[in-house]
Amino acid sequence: MTVAESAPLPPARSGPAALPPFAARARAVGGSPVRDILAVTARPEMINFAGGLPAPELFDTEGIAEAFRAVLAETPERALQYATTEGEPALREGLAGRFRGRGLATDAGDLIVTTGSQQGLALVATALLEPGDTVLVEDPCYLAALQAFGFAGARVVAVPGDAYGIDPGALEELVVRERPKLLYTVPTFQNPTGRTLPADRRAAVAAVAARRGLWIVEDDPYGELRFEGERVPWIAAQPGAGDRVALLGSLSKVMAPGLRLGWLRAPAPLLRACVVAKQAADLHTPTVNQLAAARYLADRDLDAHVGRVAAVYRERRDAMLAGLADALPEGSTWNRPEGGMFLWARLPESYDTTALLPGVVAHDVAYVPGAPFFAGEPDRATLRLCFVTQTPEEIGVGLGRLRAGLLGE
Ligand code: PMP
Repeated sequence: MTVAESAPLPPARSGPAALPPFAARARAVGGSPVRDILAVTARPEMINFAGGLPAPELFDTEGIAEAFRAVLAETPERALQYATTEGEPALREGLAGRFRGRGLATDAGDLIVTTGSQQGLALVATALLEPGDTVLVEDPCYLAALQAFGFAGARVVAVPGDAYGIDPGALEELVVRERPKLLYTVPTFQNPTGRTLPADRRAAVAAVAARRGLWIVEDDPYGELRFEGERVPWIAAQPGAGDRVALLGSLSKVMAPGLRLGWLRAPAPLLRACVVAKQAADLHTPTVNQLAAARYLADRDLDAHVGRVAAVYRERRDAMLAGLADALPEGSTWNRPEGGMFLWARLPESYDTTALLPGVVAHDVAYVPGAPFFAGEPDRATLRLCFVTQTPEEIGVGLGRLRAGLLGE
């Protein structure tokens, strides 16, 4: 006799019974604590330094539309069909060619197409992390990476650093002490700080990973948006990094985020595990988007487009840098990123940028407070400013409002 036969069902209660609870991970990982305040940034009068949105007037709408028209006219049966999980061969080859053009030997088979680089992060977390595993992150760190690792049940530990990023000596000590599985880093024009890790530190970070046994997730959505200075080689290109670095990239900041196209370049065993994870997540990234992007890469000059975008972003960065001394309280400090979309400011010790935000938003301008980006002890006097979405004139007006909001004028 089975247990089911022997134990009579309890009588049904009248009315609906309580549902089983959500998974612990869904209860443990919250949304952004400042999202409610920032919801009002959609108001048209708002000057929004808080968003992380590429400037939409710079999208190559005509070029992208032409690429979609071409693939839908010429290969509709393919463009509208299911495709392989790894991604369309033409796009993988186009992306591999871009890596080779930057001196990193890469075949189409060394990478898969992902639904934005955000999916790459989730796939790597799924493939590598057990609940309770330790992940090392930068302090401060990209928020949605903290979420992805939170959903994987990871214990997140911040690596000390400075204005240039992670300190490799501190990294090594933490690796020995905490036995982490992976380090997550955005070494170029980091979100949220805009800072860039110098070449010698990249080599040192790769050497720690080689010596101590550590996966590195190198997230690089902003590296192409360089306004000045020399390109710094990827951690993935350092000696000893070949079998232990997952390099994430994206067309979001160089073409358009609505395409949801990214890639994951990783050693073969990790790539295979991520393909299985991606199958379970979404089967594949939309075929028509992949083919249109491949077509765009083949027919157009993406580098020339990125050069035009970077020139405009540079003017906007300069407009923000020119106005910050007047806008922020005396004693504030900020950095001067050589590219990307963000800069990072620190007000004097007594300021709390989370507490100040509602008053600032009342002046129709917004920033993101720094505190939520910290996995360790938050520095409450910090804030992130996105300088790319407004024109220099709007930036000037916005900084005037910021001053009024911060100083209670
Ligand atoms: N990584 C970082 C550091 C980011 O800032 C972003 C976008 N804000 C992403 C990944 C995700 O980008 P996407 O999924 O659009 O490629």
